[in-house]
Amino acid sequence: VVERNEHIQAARVKLPILGEEQQIIETISENMVTIICGETGSGKTTQVPQFLYEAGYTSGGYLIGITEPRRVAAMSMSKRVAEELGLTQDDVSYQIRYEGNTTAKTCIKFMTDGVLLKEIQKDFLLGKYRAVIIDEAHERSVYTDVLIGLLSRIVSLRHKKGNPLKLIIMSATLRVEDFRDNKMLFPEPPPVLKIDSRQFPVTVHFNKRTPEDYLTETFRKVCKIHRQLPAGGILIFVTGKQEVHTLCRKLQRTFPSTKPKPDEDAPEEKPTNEKEAPLAREKPATLDEKLPTIELNSYSALPMDEQAELIGEQNDLDIEDESEGSDAEEDIKSDKVFDYEQRQADRQLPLHVLPLYSLLNTKRQALVFERPPEGCRLCVVSTNVAETSLTIPNIKYVVDSGKTKNKFYDKVTGVSTFRVTFTSQASANQRAGRSGRTAPGHCYRIYSSSVFNDEFEKFSAPEIVSRPVDDLILQMNSMGIEKVINFPFPTPPSDESLLAAQDLLIKLGALKVTKGRFRRAITDKVSTQITDLGKTMALFPVAPRYARMLALAHQKDLLEYIIAIVSACSVQELFVEDSLNSALEDGDMSKMAARINKQKTQWAGRGQSLLTGDAMVYLKASGAAEFAGGTPAFCELNGLRFKAISEVRKLRVQLTNIVNSVLPSAQICVDPKMSPPTEIQAKLIRQIMLVGLADRVARLNVVPNDAEPDVKKKMRNSYQTTLINDYCYIHPSSVLYKKNPEYVVYQDIMEANDKVYLRGVIAIE
Ligand code: ADP
Ligand code: MG
Repeated sequence: VVERNEHIQAARVKLPILGEEQQIIETISENMVTIICGETGSGKTTQVPQFLYEAGYTSGGYLIGITEPRRVAAMSMSKRVAEELGLTQDDVSYQIRYEGNTTAKTCIKFMTDGVLLKEIQKDFLLGKYRAVIIDEAHERSVYTDVLIGLLSRIVSLRHKKGNPLKLIIMSATLRVEDFRDNKMLFPEPPPVLKIDSRQFPVTVHFNKRTPEDYLTETFRKVCKIHRQLPAGGILIFVTGKQEVHTLCRKLQRTFPSTKPKPDEDAPEEKPTNEKEAPLAREKPATLDEKLPTIELNSYSALPMDEQAELIGEQNDLDIEDESEGSDAEEDIKSDKVFDYEQRQADRQLPLHVLPLYSLLNTKRQALVFERPPEGCRLCVVSTNVAETSLTIPNIKYVVDSGKTKNKFYDKVTGVSTFRVTFTSQASANQRAGRSGRTAPGHCYRIYSSSVFNDEFEKFSAPEIVSRPVDDLILQMNSMGIEKVINFPFPTPPSDESLLAAQDLLIKLGALKVTKGRFRRAITDKVSTQITDLGKTMALFPVAPRYARMLALAHQKDLLEYIIAIVSACSVQELFVEDSLNSALEDGDMSKMAARINKQKTQWAGRGQSLLTGDAMVYLKASGAAEFAGGTPAFCELNGLRFKAISEVRKLRVQLTNIVNSVLPSAQICVDPKMSPPTEIQAKLIRQIMLVGLADRVARLNVVPNDAEPDVKKKMRNSYQTTLINDYCYIHPSSVLYKKNPEYVVYQDIMEANDKVYLRGVIAIE
């Protein structure tokens, strides 16, 4: 019997889902699979686990598992549910890639979808669980899709064994046909429960025109709302972390809050805590004390859920200009009352501005749930994390830029581009809905209704059809799923991307062809089998090509370096300036790239001068940071991202542990005082990297003397790759930019400004 405190009970009974408890529990108990649809905020995530708990699904020591595509949600929801149940985080816990607070007592476990996938690899029938909830299924993350495919089989196996496991799929939209009507997935369509969403009416206001500079237009709109419209929180949707910070800064400057919060708009990498800084001077403890102990079993081998979060959060631009936007149509009363271009701070109208995005630390994220200071309007500037995963109280106005940032891949060549595009109609409607949770609301769209109708896709594409799947195919093969083509995906990946993945894995030696001919025919005609090497590779939570490098480095001293390099290469944006890398997208690359380049070159020159590529720079930079104790102060001083450096360390520890368990004779440890490699070691390291990047080789073009001047210009410093028939160039941020070695391998190939760039470049001699 659960005794909830009064306060929580009062908030709970207001949730529409509470009236459906009986029906939900009955449906779940009578069916193997249940789909629950309900608007964001209707209480699915916080209440359904509680219903199951009260219905006895945890008795006998069983677990209720809930998967979230985002780390933020896994952490904050476990805390909230513990609180609502009057339990502690020992009972209601979370597990994300590098951290968690599960205990032997845990009975409700929130986790990222990658973590559950890893558990299925260890115990296919998920014997510890009696119910698994796949939350936010509408987001269609790759691992959510794959989990649903796997669980469709697991539940029927558990049913046959007489020890049923209940699968509950929860979605914030009604678009569930891909799950419900997919006969391969569920021969019998599962029941769909629709939760009424006590949603208040939302008035949608379109702009007459759709401005190019949506950020400035968004800013102007927020100023107007704040100056002219009655009380009520404002929620703003933009595309990424940098945009969030830019807008926060501008709004704070315009409407200073009574109590200034100096750290509000500072990137969190900066040390704000004095106590953290001087650590470097302390004598380092013994290795054991210094390194966090890590329990291998509780880690996901798949960091991709987090990589997905990085996209759109980091690789974007800081738009600082304050130029005029277009003359947009105004739904707000009068245009003339104020001058929104006034630069002077408006102290009469304080605004409580808060940023919100996935990678923001939890404490600062939690601020959005708190009451704003007296007489201050709440204003949250968010990425699409506030679209469905989190519900912010008392939002009356939504300002929607209509944009989203995504990474696009060419299915065959793997060439990637970051693009800001219009979001889908479904997601724009989700955003609008955020304003009508507590009272009738208003949504201001920074785009016209005709653009919404004609240019917005109806729904966003599932992630699985838009990114390479080599990591996924390797994981599935290691689980014994060799005929991926027969797997019951809610939406299958395209033949091209399956082929590309298969191709790469064969080249890396993770798969071997057992029937059919290599590199011909469609996927189902080439039968493959996972090799022992592939099985080992699947243990490493990094991209298959990096896993290959790890599996290749047998020698103890090399292993430690390869682990450090792979860790550094797997974490995005080690350098602060790197987050500005995609400046390329916007045409203004020179300044930024030159700064990064200078920084990297400085690093490359430290110690022995092994100016042979970006990976070596990463190794040096992260190694030096570790040497100095990895403190925020050191990172800031040296242009490194503190968060990235901490992630590198966690990954190093994790990879080291895996290597020791695979290769007990290795007995390696994470040495924070690792010295840089010698010339010979460096040469070997590059050879190992070359194997992992064997399909990513490029050769410097020789410019013929008799070539036309414009051809000469184009060919100068250009490379020919094996992938595409186009001139490619070393990215200006690379340490090898303008050095132009004859042969190189590269980690990444991307297109920007109609040019193809190679990033993460290593010279081969
Ligand atoms: P859904 O999953 O259907 O979107 P949730 O279960 O997340 O809905 O939220 C239900 C309600 O609980 C919302 O009104 C939300 O405001 C409230 N809520 C969720 N988390 C918290 C929290 N940490 N603090 C206060 N209220 C919260
Ligand atoms: Mg939810």
